[in-house]
Parts: sequence; C-alpha cells; structure tokens
Amino acid sequence: MIFRCVKGIFDALGHVLWPISCPVCGRLGLHVCRSCLESTAGDLPLFCLECGIDAPCGKHRGALVRAASVYEGVSKDLVRVMKYENGRRVAGMMGELLAARFGRPQADFLVPVPLHKSSDRDYNQAELIARGAGRAWRLDVARALRWHLALPRQALRPGGDDRSLPEDAMIAERCLTEARVFIVDDVYTSGSTMRAAARALEKAGAAVAGAMVWCRARRKEHGGSTF
Ligand SMILES: [Zn+2]
Ligand SMILES: [Zn+2]
Repeated sequence: MIFRCVKGIFDALGHVLWPISCPVCGRLGLHVCRSCLESTAGDLPLFCLECGIDAPCGKHRGALVRAASVYEGVSKDLVRVMKYENGRRVAGMMGELLAARFGRPQADFLVPVPLHKSSDRDYNQAELIARGAGRAWRLDVARALRWHLALPRQALRPGGDDRSLPEDAMIAERCLTEARVFIVDDVYTSGSTMRAAARALEKAGAAVAGAMVWCRARRKEHGGSTF
C-alpha cells in the first residue's frame, strides 16, 4: 500500500518533470524507447509505387515501396508525435530502424518528400528519416524536391487524403540526369504524393530506384481491409 502511494507520487512527479512518455511501455522522458520502436516495425510486402497494390501489381513495372508498419495503433501515434510534438529524434530513429530492416538500395541519393510550404513545422520529418537511414547506409540525402502547388487542407493532416493531388504538384530543383534516387516519406496514404515526387524526379532526368516509408495506410478492397 505504502509502495503504491510512493510509486504514484513518483509517477505524478515524473509527468511534471518529463511530460512525454513512450506510447508503448509508458516510460517517462522519452518519445519512444528504441526497443519499443523496433517492436512496432515489421517488414510488410513490397508494393507498387503507382497503385499501392502488393508487387507485382500486374499493371505497372516501375518502382516499388517498402513500409515498416501500418498506419494505425502505436505506429499512428508515433507519426503524430514525430510531426506535432517535436519528435525530431523519433524521425531519426525511424530512419535508422528502416535502414536496419531493409537492404541498402541501389541508389546514388535518398530524396525526402519536402515539407509543404504552408506547413509551420520547422523541420521536415521525411528528411530526418532519410538522414537517419543515410547515416546507416552511407548514402547522401538530396533535398531535390519542392512543392509548387498548394495542398488541400485535408491532405496536410497525418495520413490525410491526398488523392486530389495532380501529378505535377512537385518539381525537382536540380538536374539529376542519370542519378538513381530512392524516395523517402513518413506515410504512404493514397500514393498521390509519392507519384508526384516520382514524376518530378523523372522529369529532372533521375531514375527512381524505389521508395520507403515508415508506414502505409491499410488498403481497402471490396469493402474489407487487406494488403
Ligand atoms: Zn517504451
Ligand atoms: Zn501498380
């Protein structure tokens, strides 16, 4: 009884001193523990960048995407922390974890999806994921893309619906002729953002070798959910 009281006091004090806690185990003072982050990540089937269907999709023969988790539960909580609770370190850890799970791509650069110009965040979580992976893989990160169209408000939310994006919503700012690039983002929802990134890079002369994301939205099919 006394032990429970003392523990309660320490827990309350801890929340005041360290208001963040791991969403998996509850440990105070951390956005997420490394081991807990690892427990949320798997290796989902490769899927088609163009349509989101597991490879081979039967329609496209282009780049494939890797994802470590499904956008739900703890994985979804971590995306919120990463984007809205100053989760820079979480993004870097995600990148390191993705690099440990997936083989080094046959690419010259990792290219993160850029932060939209109307965002007020002072860091780009996709770039931090790319930098975490780039350190592990010894691959340079190229900030080669930028948006030139405004996104509809609903597309800016985590996992937001970006289906209305045109394929020329992004442009590549540098010449990437004959460079092999690997696109990095935090979430794959409808694939519209990823397609816009791929079109812009191809227009700049690059070959898109593939892509990876921390998580992907569960794909709805025939009224149910499946991969
Ligand atoms: Zn934990
Ligand atoms: Zn496809």
